[in-house]
Amino acid sequence: MKILIADDHALFRDSLRSLLEAHGIEVVGEAKNGREAVELARRLNIPVATDLRGLIEDPRLDLVIDDRLTAVRGRRPEIEYDLVTVNDLSAGLAQRPDAVIVATGATQRLPDIPGVKLPHVSTTVDMLMGRTAPGRRVVIVDEEGYFAAPTTADFLAERGAQVTIVCRYFMVGEDIDEGTRSDLYARLFSRGVTLQPMTRAIEILPHCVRTRHTFSNAEGVVEADSVVIAFGGKADDALLRELEGKVAELKVIGDAYSPRRVHDAILDGTRVARAL
Ligand SMILES: Cc1cc2nc3c(=O)[nH]c(=O)nc-3n(C[C@H](O)[C@H](O)[C@H](O)COP(=O)(O)OP(=O)(O)OC[C@H]3O[C@@H](n4cnc5c(N)ncnc54)[C@H](O)[C@@H]3O)c2cc1C
Repeated sequence: MKILIADDHALFRDSLRSLLEAHGIEVVGEAKNGREAVELARRLNIPVATDLRGLIEDPRLDLVIDDRLTAVRGRRPEIEYDLVTVNDLSAGLAQRPDAVIVATGATQRLPDIPGVKLPHVSTTVDMLMGRTAPGRRVVIVDEEGYFAAPTTADFLAERGAQVTIVCRYFMVGEDIDEGTRSDLYARLFSRGVTLQPMTRAIEILPHCVRTRHTFSNAEGVVEADSVVIAFGGKADDALLRELEGKVAELKVIGDAYSPRRVHDAILDGTRVARAL
């Protein structure tokens, strides 16, 4: 079987490709959106069995997104939807919406560790989005306790980096459920990732991270060409502030309200949409 993967997240495309290839399924291409998927499928001469709209349509949502991902139409004619991009906010406001729901997510939080502004320090999002190139030895400083650090470690180790996760909690991925954590650990250890829990990063230097054990206070050094920060996010409410007083009803959902998890963002969105 030949597969073409279409998803806007590089990490998801990558994980899915690894999973499929591990099961002997050939991945013939990757696309970042519906339009790319259709074009690539034509170029590779892959028959598109289903109209892409059918794939995007979700019966639980009252929305259908067209196959070029440029328009949205609702099944309920009394509700109008329009895609407004960052650059045409004033055009969006000119339509005098009855309500605006802000879902701008979060920006990455940087800790107050000396050396955090050095050029070889970045965040998990920067690394996963390819905005920063990793060095050979990478230290991930994790204070989030969830997926960000281990998935970034997995991503980098797969590309040949020698990765250490330094985390002040009792274990890396403490907030991840037991079953998933075991699978994740199997991947990390098989890729040679080193986990150093109960350890704080106390200083970042150009070629290493200085650490202190949470309980013994023993200090240590981990060599690093790149340092990645996983300290969670802080609400990106810039757009919310900009819109205050300009629209009749203003709502905020997901990480823009408070950085949490995907299911919280979905629940917030569902609640707000139903209330409207
Ligand atoms: C590395 C990493 C791994 C994670 N892993 C998990 C996990 O395994 N499970 C889990 O439940 N959660 C995970 N999370 C958390 C989860 O991704 C978030 O809680 C969730 O994505 C929040 O959804 P959201 O819609 O509020 O914001 P986002 O998904 O961040 O979406 C916000 C969107 O708004 C856009 N935007 C920002 N400003 C503007 C503007 N002015 N105009 C227009 N658009 C704008 C942004 O570009 C972005 O596309 C992870 C987070 C990170 C960083």
